[in-house]
Amino acid sequence: MLDFANAGAAVGSTSATLEKTRVLAEYFRGLEEDDLRRAAVFMSGRAFSPSQRRTLGLGWSAVSKVITGLSGLDDEELSRIFRKHSDMGDWAAEALEGRTNPEPVTLEEVEATLEAIRTARGAKKAAPLEQLIRRMDPRSVRFFIKVISGELRIGLSEGLVEAAIAEAFHVPITQVKRVHLITGDIGETAVRCKLGQFDASTLTLFQPVRFMLASPVETAGEVFDRMGAEAVWTEEKYDGVRCQLHRQSDRVELFSRDLKETTGAFPELVENGPAIGHDVLFDGEVLAHRDGRVLRFFELQRRLGRKQVKSELRQEVPVVLVVFDLLWLDGRTLLDEPLNMRRKLLEGLGLQHPFLLARLEEATGPDHLDRIFAETRERGNEGLMVKDPLSPYTPGRRGLAWLKLKRPLATLDVVVTAVEWGHGKRKGVLSDYTFAVRDTESGRLVNVGKAYTGLTDAEIATMTKRFLEITIEDRGYVRLVRPEVVLEVAFDSIQHSGRHLSGYALRFPRIVRIRDDKPVEEIDTLERVAELYDRYFGEKAEVPLSEVAET
Ligand code: AMP
Repeated sequence: MLDFANAGAAVGSTSATLEKTRVLAEYFRGLEEDDLRRAAVFMSGRAFSPSQRRTLGLGWSAVSKVITGLSGLDDEELSRIFRKHSDMGDWAAEALEGRTNPEPVTLEEVEATLEAIRTARGAKKAAPLEQLIRRMDPRSVRFFIKVISGELRIGLSEGLVEAAIAEAFHVPITQVKRVHLITGDIGETAVRCKLGQFDASTLTLFQPVRFMLASPVETAGEVFDRMGAEAVWTEEKYDGVRCQLHRQSDRVELFSRDLKETTGAFPELVENGPAIGHDVLFDGEVLAHRDGRVLRFFELQRRLGRKQVKSELRQEVPVVLVVFDLLWLDGRTLLDEPLNMRRKLLEGLGLQHPFLLARLEEATGPDHLDRIFAETRERGNEGLMVKDPLSPYTPGRRGLAWLKLKRPLATLDVVVTAVEWGHGKRKGVLSDYTFAVRDTESGRLVNVGKAYTGLTDAEIATMTKRFLEITIEDRGYVRLVRPEVVLEVAFDSIQHSGRHLSGYALRFPRIVRIRDDKPVEEIDTLERVAELYDRYFGEKAEVPLSEVAET
């Protein structure tokens, strides 16, 4: 631990990135595998690797009680020391100067202590913490506490730890990053780089893999230009949540887009996992789905983030997993196989409800792709995923092998009802516009969103003057204005929202232009917003999937 602390201090003592990397690389090079694994995790400011999905569950008050007790100092002195550093690690080190009985402490012991703290309940967590700190010299305490606090504060990012691994073991940084993407574990990455194990066949079940991402495009021509393929594959862009399913006989675990475990939220998928009949790692999208219909995203939201789901909710909002990729099958990693091979293997599994297959259609040119896009819009989808059938699965990468073809659903003509002063470079101008449509039933204007983007600085300056003139109420940072400035806005989607009286909110609205030619009487209506919502984000009449067996 002392070596770790010394290396950490040396890294912290220089602000030059190259020097930080060099120092850390030298430290890593001197470690055998198990310590290397631990040190790389601790150096990224973590007690556990994220792939282990563990947390210490240790509150600050518990840590500070232990330090206070061991230091024998009074509160006033301790506060004075804390004010000097504003860092728990630095504070603890100074407070314990000469108060511990230092003896050599290994990283293995540190790891074992962290595990003991994690598994102990409540007040019992303090004992292993205290036992270890008693045996540490203040320099080690300083870094031990920093690791516990989840932040080393020595100017070390995960990227720098990767760079140090690259330098230590003479591995190209791109290779280090790739191994890290696959393992999701910086400790494991360091060890594999030391041992030269770059074979992709080492994907490990139940360690979440980062998701492959898509780049946005707006036209069919752009798809073919960027992909450079003769024929491309299209899949529906389902409006649910991304999900990775790991299954090995009876064990099934699920992970969300940010690699958090979501097993508890979707028990249907867990219960039916064993029936898949093979050990697999799926990539797909969870949808709320009942009686052959996809329910609104709004319904699915009720299931998200839950540790447990009551049976009524399961009945009201059942879920399915639409699978579109297979990364691992019966011991074989498929990341480097082309998509068409992965899909063939996926189809060969003969999936049954609640596992469905994404709808796939090949497009042989821009016109063909445009037709498929128009059809998916007809079916009420906002967009299409386009994939290169020959591409490997690249975890964590937003490349050109997967594209998402999206166009603004529609534009709406709206009127500005309130404006706000901007921030940063928009300081001193009124740049944030809340806008409304007309509710024809009540005749009132009802807000549906707020736009910040789309106008030039010159336009904003002119609009600021105009809004100052038509202010009807000045509430400080926000001004209510006479509703007379009509805007055309584009947006990506519509959500139900309690924030606005209208019950809806446009997502990512941008101003297309100011419509001075259009009188306020002619702006769009709440019915139109509701109609667009129902069409694209409401319950779907038809579920665009490949044939699957319903139970
Ligand atoms: P976006 O959220 O706009 O970046 O679009 C990418 C997201 O679309 C992915 O993260 C998935 O959650 C979702 N998605 C829906 N259908 C598919 C599909 N067929 N293939 C890949 N991603 C999909």
